[in-house]
Formats: sequence, C-alpha cells, structure tokens
Amino acid sequence: MICQDRTERVRDALRDHARYQQVEKETVESVKARTDIVALVEETVGEFKREGSAFLAACPRKEHGRLALKVWPDSQRWKCYACDTGGDCFDFIQWSRGVEFHTALDDLRGSTLPPPLPRNPSRPKRDHKARPPRGELQELWGRAVPVASDAAACAWCEKRSIDPANLDREGVARVAPRGARVPRWARFGGEPWTKSGHRLLFPLYDAAGEMVSLRARRVEGESERKAINPAGFSPSGSVLAMPAAVEMLRTGKRPKRIEADPLRIVIVEGDSDLASWANRIGNRWEHRRPYGELIIGVFSGAWSPEIAARVPDAAQCAVRTDPDRTGDSYAERIIESLIPRVDARRSRPETK
Ligand SMILES: [Zn+2]
Repeated sequence: MICQDRTERVRDALRDHARYQQVEKETVESVKARTDIVALVEETVGEFKREGSAFLAACPRKEHGRLALKVWPDSQRWKCYACDTGGDCFDFIQWSRGVEFHTALDDLRGSTLPPPLPRNPSRPKRDHKARPPRGELQELWGRAVPVASDAAACAWCEKRSIDPANLDREGVARVAPRGARVPRWARFGGEPWTKSGHRLLFPLYDAAGEMVSLRARRVEGESERKAINPAGFSPSGSVLAMPAAVEMLRTGKRPKRIEADPLRIVIVEGDSDLASWANRIGNRWEHRRPYGELIIGVFSGAWSPEIAARVPDAAQCAVRTDPDRTGDSYAERIIESLIPRVDARRSRPETK
C-alpha cells in the first residue's frame, strides 16, 4: 500500500516535471520571439552604424579598436568578430553581463524593450517563404467587392444570422466578383475560385500585422471543400484578425481604441467564427458601445511563437477552439505559448 502510494507520487512528480519543462521551453521561445536583438544590443553598446541590412557596433567587452560587433535583424543573431563569439539574445546577455542563462531569461522576461518590428516591411519574412506573391495578393484583394453587394455571399451570411454590412464595416471579408480573373494560386481543383464558388475572402495576417494570404470560403457551387487556402500555400504563422487585433500585431501593444483593462483577447477557430464575432461587434457599434475585446481567428497548426509574442503582457486571452479533441489540444498549445506572461485559458464556445 505504502509502496503503491509512493509509486504514484513519483509518477505525479515526473509528470509535473515534464510539464514544467514544456512550459519552460515555451517561455524561452516566446521571450526570444518578442525580444529585438537590435534594441537589446543598442541598449548596451549605445551607438550603431548601419551596414546594409545589418548593424555594426563597438564590442562591449573589449577595446578592439574597430567596430567588431555585428547584429543581423533578419535572423536576430549577433557576432563579435574579434572575440569570435556570437549567438541569440540570451547568449548576448550572458556574454556581455557575465550571467547565467536563467538570469538572462529573467532579465528579458521583465524587459520593457520594444518587440522586433519589420524594419523594412518589404523584406521577406523568415520561415514564411510559402506565401502567395504580395503584389498578386494585394491586387486580388483590391479588386474584391463589399460582401453586401454580392447575392451569394449575402445568402451565406443570412444562414448564419450575420449582417453582411458588419463584415464590410469591420473590413474582415470581401468578395471576388464572378467571372473576374484571379492569380494562378487562387484556384481549387483546376478551377479559379470565382468559378469553384470560393469567392468570400478573409485576409490572413502574419506576426507583424501584414496581410500575407487569404482564406477562401465557398458561397456557391458544389465543390467538396467549404473553405480553402491558396493552392500550394499553408496558413502557417498567420491568423485572421479584426482591425484592433491587426493593430496589436503591428505594434505589439494594446490598441488605442480598446479601453478595457485588462486587455481582453478572444481567439476563435476558423473564418465563420470570426465572421460571427465581427457581426456581434458590428452590432455593438450600432448601439454606440465601444470595442470590448480583440478578436483573432486561427486555423489548426497556424499559431506561432512569433504571434504569441505580439500579445501584450497581462492581457486576458480566452481560447475558443472547436469543442473536439483537435480543438482541445490546439487550445492547449496556444495557451502554453502565452502563459505565464499572459493570463490565457480555455473558454467553451457558447451553446446557441
Ligand atoms: Zn569583442
């Protein structure tokens, strides 16, 4: 009996330890993603010289008589050529201040430095080569028309008790007009979206709040898929977002139009849930009540540590993924990328 008790205690302890390590790993990743190596080094060395897309500075450890320290904003790495050492943000603090890893982690956790921002928005984002070409994407989005002006899109909205005017007002969707020409990637089963019926378009944003892709929802026709991504591209590292959430991604800060304190963020799954929330918030506007929360829409597997890093400290996140096994484990992943910095918890979608 005693022996069995102990076995159980050991098993519990092991499970706690594994969980602790997992949380720790997520914390390290999210701290890293929201630390700008350029701002961090600048804080220590004082002055920089620009060299192409990199920065040069004097070594903070030794007088080498030249600008030996180089920092790359794209890869978020640094190197001192004279000392022949380099690495990431943690390595920099350990090396320049002579401290242990955990002190560096604690320092960066409490840091008030701004998160990394795209210094030159036109430069390609790391790891996300798989995006439709920017120009074609913007052209298609630019030619798309208001939801309220398209009968099939209005019928889709009506089935879900969504006022199409709310989607237009919030700017979360547009419609590719029938018969319009679309880029090569805007196809399903060999047919352009405008023919397969996937004409209701929802923009996807990356961690810097830049529009990087579209989710296309079928509003007419019989093709087997209801909602699709551009052919050959995955939504990885991108989210659907209402305007205030896009502002948060761009700045890494609380959006100006949101007054609620603490900042409330609702993370929903998929484009139809996002549309329902946009409708709800649009209706609230009509009654002159301000935004109370920020809405983000996610697709399975698309959430990333870079996106988590844009969520300001002490925000309150409610994760409302689908109430099934996949939804559960996805919610857990999102929550683990945010805690303990952000108060994040699962919130069951309301039963209607
Ligand atoms: Zn050096």
